[in-house]
Amino acid sequence: VGTERLVNFSAGPACVYEDVLVKAQEDLLNFEKNGLSVMEMSHRGKAFTRIIEEAEADLRELLGVPDEYSVLFMQGGATAQFAAVPYNLGWSDDVTDVGFRPRADYLTTGSWSKKALAEAKKVGVDANVVATGDNKSIPLDAAAWDVNADSGKKSKYFHVCANETIQGVELKGLSPRSVLDEAAGGIYQGVPLVADMSSNFCSKPVKVSDYGVIYAGAQKNVGPAGVTIVIVRKDLLGKVREGTPTMLDWTIMDENSSLYNTPPCFSIYMCGLVFKHLLSLGGLDKVEQINKAKCGLLYDTIKQSQGYYDCPVDPKVRSAMNVPFTIPENPDLEKVFLQEAEANGLINLKGHRSVGGMRASIYNAMPLEGVEKLVSFMKDFQAKH
Ligand code: PLP
Repeated sequence: VGTERLVNFSAGPACVYEDVLVKAQEDLLNFEKNGLSVMEMSHRGKAFTRIIEEAEADLRELLGVPDEYSVLFMQGGATAQFAAVPYNLGWSDDVTDVGFRPRADYLTTGSWSKKALAEAKKVGVDANVVATGDNKSIPLDAAAWDVNADSGKKSKYFHVCANETIQGVELKGLSPRSVLDEAAGGIYQGVPLVADMSSNFCSKPVKVSDYGVIYAGAQKNVGPAGVTIVIVRKDLLGKVREGTPTMLDWTIMDENSSLYNTPPCFSIYMCGLVFKHLLSLGGLDKVEQINKAKCGLLYDTIKQSQGYYDCPVDPKVRSAMNVPFTIPENPDLEKVFLQEAEANGLINLKGHRSVGGMRASIYNAMPLEGVEKLVSFMKDFQAKH
């Protein structure tokens, strides 16, 4: 590389494992010595076919994706999936009913789940908010949810955001499925759970069979921007709304093994390298262990600062991936913090423009040493200011 790499706390696109970048650097010029860049190969050729098939197989192994689920590589980011979800779920069951709009239920816990909800409304789904969080906690007391016996009967899916990247609120160490099943007397039993896992995908083991659909933009934990992974239970396919744009139609993507049109080849290739890397680390149990050590160190440092730093999020749902923090007694110092951090090679620590303060995104590829550098800087900064 020539110069030292910076410690990048960006929320996405985010830092990538250095081993993966080195391998990609080789393949960028001459993939497996076949005289072509990995970027130049036909998506219908043998080499790319192997790349996409291996990427899928490795992801299935990593996450333990059961055979009854399809894995799709799509485009348009998670934002396109905000629309794809309501386009694809629950339309063909009741086609005889003129003007039929399927019901869908949303748990809104921060900025991204609210965007998902807004998109569902645009598509014409009868989208309901079951409960809204205060950006610091997750309303998991089902007794307070705005539901009735009819909701579960009619609902075609229940949507959650597994990790709110901006607020740093994560459905952590919890089984959203069991919460859902207990909700209001189990009325959601059998209703598919749909999760936006963009910012905690592959950061820990997940019981895929708890979900009807999992989707995630790649650019945080598993690759470059440009590809979005969708894992969908096959019995949910084929219920697409009439007039759905082809590129949002999971059934068409499934029938064409994600190769209906030119896929984001390079992004898929990079994800494949990352999946192999995660397997070589020991799989998602090991990855979770490392992530817990990283976020534990950061949250402990905030706690031990005696109120100098503050994380507003309820400890029960603090994200392992995105750690927001402030300097509550002297917010003017936050700007200085960001400037001095950057001068020390710690970059992209500014909180999202909607919430301010600082945010350290510490996805899989952020090494423990990166977080150690940050906490050491935080302690020095506190001592100095
Ligand atoms: N969902 C979550 C949780 C996100 O963090 C983001 C982006 O940061 C999105 C959705 C939107 O993703 P994209 O930019 O890939 O459309």
